[in-house]
Amino acid sequence: MLTGLLVQFEQSQWWSPERLKAQQDRQRASLLSHAYDKVPYYKAPLAEAGYRPGREVTDEIWSRIPILDRQVLAEDSSVLKARSMPKGHGRTSERSSSGSSGRPIKVVITELATLFRDAGVLRDILWHRIDTRGKLAAIRGRSGAAYPKGTGQESWSPVVRSQFETGPAVALSSTTEVPKQALWLQRENPDHLMIIPHNLFALAEHCRKEGIKLDKLRGVSTYGGVVRPEDRQACREAWGVEIYDVYSAEESGYMALQCPLHEHYHVQAEAVILEIIDEAGKPCAPGQRGRVIVTALHNFAMPLIRYDLGDYAEFGEPCDCGRGLPVVRRIHGRTRDMLTLPSGGQVSPVFVNDAFKDLPVRQFQIVQDAPDHLEVKIVQAPDYRPEEQEALIREVLSERLPADYAMTFSYHDKIEHTPGGKYFDFRSLVSNPE
Ligand SMILES: [Zn+2]
Repeated sequence: MLTGLLVQFEQSQWWSPERLKAQQDRQRASLLSHAYDKVPYYKAPLAEAGYRPGREVTDEIWSRIPILDRQVLAEDSSVLKARSMPKGHGRTSERSSSGSSGRPIKVVITELATLFRDAGVLRDILWHRIDTRGKLAAIRGRSGAAYPKGTGQESWSPVVRSQFETGPAVALSSTTEVPKQALWLQRENPDHLMIIPHNLFALAEHCRKEGIKLDKLRGVSTYGGVVRPEDRQACREAWGVEIYDVYSAEESGYMALQCPLHEHYHVQAEAVILEIIDEAGKPCAPGQRGRVIVTALHNFAMPLIRYDLGDYAEFGEPCDCGRGLPVVRRIHGRTRDMLTLPSGGQVSPVFVNDAFKDLPVRQFQIVQDAPDHLEVKIVQAPDYRPEEQEALIREVLSERLPADYAMTFSYHDKIEHTPGGKYFDFRSLVSNPE
């Protein structure tokens, strides 16, 4: 099935925008019909927007469907679960994430939706001609791969192995201090590196200053954060290689991949409808920044229709590579600083993923305002009980932090994006004082 989908992707990427849109229109009609019948949450808003079962879903009806706030997902995602599913969508599984704007969320996805995610992983490899026969090194959180050994496996992943010949993969926890990450990489000497952008920048800068070369490295894949021009520059200067960035979210899967020829992105229009809207809810023109609203077209277990991801982005003009997939010129999404250790070293703050996962927290942000102090900012949900939850958060953070930090909690109505549209779930006034 995955092979079939990939073959289909190879063709549909060259379709005209009109043909892609027609295909999306068909898929959104079946998604709405399912949501209307099987997810009570959607019935009234869809009817109010003018939706009638069996009738055409026009763009006008679509634009009247209310934006789905992340809060619904953060507070009680069960209201979005379908009571039953059509045949052929497979089993369901649950995923959790700290979310794009510091809002912890849980989603349920089907095997069919997973198939589209997997096809995105493989399309990325094809687009950037990544040679999977080489060695992959991943520096990431939550893998339990402590320095100096890290972990290793025989292939890049079961999904990659199902379609391509693959070499081995090694992984190291991104809570490792940057100089040790560099030593580990030197020793592993990988062909390809996978890493979160803020960690990449610190690592590439360190390697450039210390003259650490990775002579086999051919490219770097990034995910899970905003890639800035200076990240690309740092990567070229340190190792002479390019970044291939992916725009994805746990809620919606792969939304956009970097064009094989340019630094902008192509929307994965076969899998998602990606809208960018202004303050009044109207579609933004190319070059105009607005909120990202996404609809995952194939996840019928928990339909997310016009879901406000909490990111900002802008569309670009059609691409000269010939692909009909819409162009996203820039993404301003979640971002992080590095955590500074009391000793002066820096590590990636992956611990923020775990501390808030199952708590009644609407939004969070951790701010390091001194080498040994963190302020934990929280927007509470109704069930939040400070004494109880503060103790829990302290416990998880202390367990995962690489050194001792004093912590202060503060409570807010809302935690804002920066004027540039970025959201910091971890901000360090020590490593990044601006
Ligand atoms: Zn292109």
